[in-house]
Amino acid sequence: MPKKNRLLHFAASAARTLHLWPVIARTGMFNRARRRKYPDTIVRLDVVITECCSLRCRDCSNLMQYYSKPENLDAGEVISSLIKIFEAMRVSQLKILGGEPFVCQKVLMEVLTYLREEVNDRFDEINIITNGTIVPSDECIQAMKDTPKLKVVFSNYGELSSKLKEFSAICSREGIAFDIIEDEFWWDFGDLSLREEKPKKTQHRYDGCYSRRICTTLYRGKLYVCPRQAHAVHLGLIPGSDGEDVDVLKSSYEDPAKLCDAIYSLIDRKEHISSCRYCGCEKNIKVPRALQAERPSDVS
Ligand code: SF4
Repeated sequence: MPKKNRLLHFAASAARTLHLWPVIARTGMFNRARRRKYPDTIVRLDVVITECCSLRCRDCSNLMQYYSKPENLDAGEVISSLIKIFEAMRVSQLKILGGEPFVCQKVLMEVLTYLREEVNDRFDEINIITNGTIVPSDECIQAMKDTPKLKVVFSNYGELSSKLKEFSAICSREGIAFDIIEDEFWWDFGDLSLREEKPKKTQHRYDGCYSRRICTTLYRGKLYVCPRQAHAVHLGLIPGSDGEDVDVLKSSYEDPAKLCDAIYSLIDRKEHISSCRYCGCEKNIKVPRALQAERPSDVS
């Protein structure tokens, strides 16, 4: 890791340990610094292309364990949403994920074709996030090979990632960049029950939240501050509220400048969102990674 990044990483970890993030967030310092460094850019865009997964992890922070009838998303809708976003802003790091993105290779290949042929100069890198359980088809390997700035990021879950060795060997052979992430544990975000608490406490949770600082999620044509919000609202597990997402396909965002403003308002949002009342991320509880559940989770 370069020295500057090491220092930033150390500073972020220290802020987390000392519980300084809520204070930093309230000052708006982080958002201002981010906007200066990345003007007109979404720093990290998580593009969900499927709810289907080859694993069923009990503690998935994207709530895939709650889907009893998961679906692959419509490639046309994903691409239409990306067209609107790229007209308005650049993206630094674009992550393609699910579920498991290699369960729907047709959608994946269509999205890669669009990114490669239409907006290659509008993003800095593409990461495909996979659990290493599936070896893609030759056609899909070729599509990845043809797409510049692409990296496959394997989450290594030991024996569960049964195809990681084979898939990564193909990447090596074909010259496709890849990383293998060896997380020792996951953070527990808690169940989806309503926390009966003072609004100040919910706000404090949001202010200190790592997820909402870092990523913006594109799911079914809408941008969200947090994947927990995106999926819990879609599944009807928690109520949403107006103004907590950006419907990028809405006609009022025909003007890219208006969409850009709306995205900035979302990213810089100070007030907590609905899902923060149904979250326990501030407890910093570690759980074993990729522990498998036998059936879709219930809401407790
Ligand atoms: S629900 Fe709120 S506090 Fe929990 S991860 Fe999402 S943004 Fe953060």
